Amino acid sequence: MSANVAEEAGDASDADEPESALENAKHQLARATEHVDIDPNVVERLKRPRKIHEVSLPLRRDDGSVEVLTGFRAQHDSVRGPYKGGLRYHPEVSRDECAGLAMWMTWKCAVMDLPFGGAKGGVVVDPKDLSSKEKERLTRRFTQEIRSAIGPTKDIPAPDMGTDPQTMAWLMDAYSMQEDETIPGVVTGKPPAIGGSEGREEAPGRSVAIVTREACEYYDYDLSETTVAVQGFGSVGANAARLLYEWDANIVAVSDVNGARYDADGIDVDKIPSHDEEPEAVTAATGVGEKIPNEELLELDVDVLIPAAIGNVLTEENADDVSADMIVEGANGPTTFAAAAIFDDRDIPVIPDILANAGGVTVSYFEWLQDINRRAWSLERVNEELETEMLSAWADVKDEVEDKDLTWRDAAYVVALKRIAAAHEFRGVWP
Ligand code: GLU
Repeated sequence: MSANVAEEAGDASDADEPESALENAKHQLARATEHVDIDPNVVERLKRPRKIHEVSLPLRRDDGSVEVLTGFRAQHDSVRGPYKGGLRYHPEVSRDECAGLAMWMTWKCAVMDLPFGGAKGGVVVDPKDLSSKEKERLTRRFTQEIRSAIGPTKDIPAPDMGTDPQTMAWLMDAYSMQEDETIPGVVTGKPPAIGGSEGREEAPGRSVAIVTREACEYYDYDLSETTVAVQGFGSVGANAARLLYEWDANIVAVSDVNGARYDADGIDVDKIPSHDEEPEAVTAATGVGEKIPNEELLELDVDVLIPAAIGNVLTEENADDVSADMIVEGANGPTTFAAAAIFDDRDIPVIPDILANAGGVTVSYFEWLQDINRRAWSLERVNEELETEMLSAWADVKDEVEDKDLTWRDAAYVVALKRIAAAHEFRGVWP
């Protein structure tokens, strides 16, 4: 690590943890620019989002009262194509969080070489407090309030924390009704019945599993002898765990918000319902290992740790206690900047979110192509093409790791930044 970088890591560790997604994203951008020959004017442009839309959302509750919520859509950069990224319904959604996560989407799309830029949005609300009808009204009103900012060639939302295919279906319907034509390409992650792609829901977990398999091969671990702990049993964690289990890996621990289940001999993950099948059922599942606290799962002596729940779970406080040999980021931003520096010092490779969970946005791209062409792909084709895209991105990042002796995160940023910088340099500044 260069002196300059160490200073920045120092800055981050002086600050109260966890730092915001925006701070983290800016730290990472600064660090990556040291390894790329990039015009500083382009870096200046990339440090801030191009637009952030903030809207008030009057929601009629089921009891007839009206509550006014706040929604955001941050659009970071669109030099390579329309803005792309999820919508999250979560009490901690904020302007800064959306801006930081939008930036990550720019890098994620570029590392996968997708013709998209980066965006993220959301509503400050706890989805557990909403009935289905309330969620529908909220989604339709949010769509209306950001309607002029989105569209199949402008900005294409997708699911994220607290939203799902049904939410995307309401968005697609609200947008289409107002435009007076059916426009499936305005949003991805829809149910297949209305233009969604087969395999989209499983895609982020599938890419985490593919990248874990490749990382194990790279570091000479035989997958059938590899022990894995997965934090989070939602669409990312459960799908990653199930696929790795199918590929013979030894999943020794899984968890949800209530706690974890651990068995040194391995867990039959098919016996545990995912969050989508039955919310928060991990600790209630019987006959599958012993119950341990969530924090303990992060510190288990395993070969691979997959944090696939929420951001900022690996921090300066617990990074020294992590005993895994490698980390594959399933969630967006599970490792703080300070924790990443500790893992770097300890020679624990961290395969970053923008590569590992990028299967989600990659199959979103496939979905968008299917919508434009009005032609659905089979699940086999989706999974085959996802495998090809993941292996190609993995190879691009691995080349940078080897050529420049970088961490996996820095290498992924270098791959992304080179593509984004080239596009900015050719397009220039207008006027
Ligand atoms: N929310 C997902 C992510 O963070 C998917 C974004 C998309 O498909 O546009 O990558």
